[in-house]
Amino acid sequence: MTEEDLTKFRQLLIEQRDEYLETLRGSTESAKGMELDQQRVGRLSRMDAIQHQSISQAANRRIKKELQQIDAALDRIIDGSYGDCLACQLPIPHLRLEAIPHTPHCLSCASNM
Ligand SMILES: [Zn+2]
Repeated sequence: MTEEDLTKFRQLLIEQRDEYLETLRGSTESAKGMELDQQRVGRLSRMDAIQHQSISQAANRRIKKELQQIDAALDRIIDGSYGDCLACQLPIPHLRLEAIPHTPHCLSCASNM
């Protein structure tokens, strides 16, 4: 992997991280708005709100996990191991990295997990 490639993937990772952080901020705001609503509305719509909240909590957990993978990928760029599969140590094809820059595994290892 060339310096140019590393710069490109680093940029992609940082953009993705900013996007996820923005999404997390947005969902915290809407959860706050829901709390206020709950004081005014009846039991049925409160159940709706709780259900909605658990969906967004699951989405938040997924985003937080991806953020950890992004941070780990940025660390691997620094230590020079970025782009190599963590399982089989072979280089991950650039097409796959362009689609999922934070992936720690090549396609065949990922599909064997
Ligand atoms: Zn692999």
